[in-house]
Amino acid sequence: MLHCNIACAIELMDLDDPYHELGLAPGSSDAEVKVAWRRLSARWHPDRNNSPHALRKIQRINRALEMIRNARDEPEPEAEDPAPGAESTVEHTISLTLEEVVTGCVREVRGEVVEDCAECNGGGLQLQATECSECSGTGHIRPNLWFAWVSPTVECAACQGQGKTRQSCTACAASGQAPASKYRCRVQVVPGARAGDLLDVTALVQGSQRQYKLGLRVRIELQPHEFFTAEADGTLKCELPVDGFAWMANRWIEVPTPRGLQQMKLRRGHLNYRIKNAGLPWANEAKTGDCIVTVVPMFPQEFSQDQEAAIDQLVASNSGTAGTSAGDRMAAWTRLVDSWQDRRR
Ligand SMILES: [Zn+2]
Ligand SMILES: [Zn+2]
Repeated sequence: MLHCNIACAIELMDLDDPYHELGLAPGSSDAEVKVAWRRLSARWHPDRNNSPHALRKIQRINRALEMIRNARDEPEPEAEDPAPGAESTVEHTISLTLEEVVTGCVREVRGEVVEDCAECNGGGLQLQATECSECSGTGHIRPNLWFAWVSPTVECAACQGQGKTRQSCTACAASGQAPASKYRCRVQVVPGARAGDLLDVTALVQGSQRQYKLGLRVRIELQPHEFFTAEADGTLKCELPVDGFAWMANRWIEVPTPRGLQQMKLRRGHLNYRIKNAGLPWANEAKTGDCIVTVVPMFPQEFSQDQEAAIDQLVASNSGTAGTSAGDRMAAWTRLVDSWQDRRR
């Protein structure tokens, strides 16, 4: 996330010598590269440096680091601590219930950030009044190297071009880090969020050295529900047991939706029901998914004597009732089977 916009803008820029860009000799160690990059980033970041060349300079610094890292086949420096003042982004995840997807909600995210020490710009070293012995206080050395014709002098690595002796920073005990700052931020989630949605919000961080804005990227996850499953198109599915006799009798039952219980009329012979607009809404769209209810009619394993008697009555009354669609269809089926039997004899 660090320097994201800048990184995109300089994708194609190439530097003749990335080490020189960082004021380093070729083949400098990882630690030297890191320290040089942090120091230069802190000095040239456009948030802190009003120079018209600051943006171009920070682009070159970042590109130099990228080139060195690529050459060493190392991962991108994005996971590094951000330079002080750098616009950085922190990721959070919030997990919503389906009910919250329907109604929208406000959540709070919290975290803490560690900034570079302001005294040493994150380098962990402080300048002293005495001259640097390596470069005699000039801040530059003339390397006796093959590429000297490209760059007559390079920044002195010992003092990093400052020309002064340096010693461990007392403010941060040479860690390069300021004390951690806590932040909290309210996140407004509109109805219709989906898993994987990203919300960008800004938290105000009261740092130990200054107040600043921190970009937060909030990723939405959905919690599994006790009885609903959500489809990508906002359709909710729910399977529920119903009394088999109530199902036979076309009774009204109550079915759950994320908005609460809703009345639904059973239809004998039907197992799947669609309740319009009872599913998940869509953010910024005036449409809502449906809720598909699948009922499982439940009958007793054993019928009671009364139930047996009633069922016998029902069977007797139903079979061969001409003039009803069920009776006609049963009669037609019986005729079909009889004629098939006749042909087999
Ligand atoms: Zn320090
Ligand atoms: Zn020096």
